[in-house]
Amino acid sequence: MSVDDYAEDDRLTTGGWRDALDDGLLLGQECRDCGHVTGAPKAACARCGSRALDTVRLPEEGTVYSVTRIEVAPEGFDAPYHVAMVALDDGRVTARLDGEADIGETVTFTGAASTPEGPAPRFG
Ligand SMILES: [Zn+2]
Repeated sequence: MSVDDYAEDDRLTTGGWRDALDDGLLLGQECRDCGHVTGAPKAACARCGSRALDTVRLPEEGTVYSVTRIEVAPEGFDAPYHVAMVALDDGRVTARLDGEADIGETVTFTGAASTPEGPAPRFG
């Protein structure tokens, strides 16, 4: 499968992004006009507003930019767990951590996690 197989009319959808996660692929979008990279599907570039977005495969190794420990989980989920912003080469992605990690620590993409908001990237 190529990354474009997860896009509809060349646009990465939330469903396609989730399907890719389930297949072990971390996808994002890169702006053709300014080069800004995002870790989740958007209708337009968050930096310049361009709608010329390419679906790209994101690096699978990044560093923890910020981390939050969830003490009280929604019903059906076990706490505590850790949610992090992971900085990749150019973009950032919100992810579930396997275990704990400190800011600046290197983490690696390990697949899809089930979260209260739906599937999310998992790093460990
Ligand atoms: Zn842009």
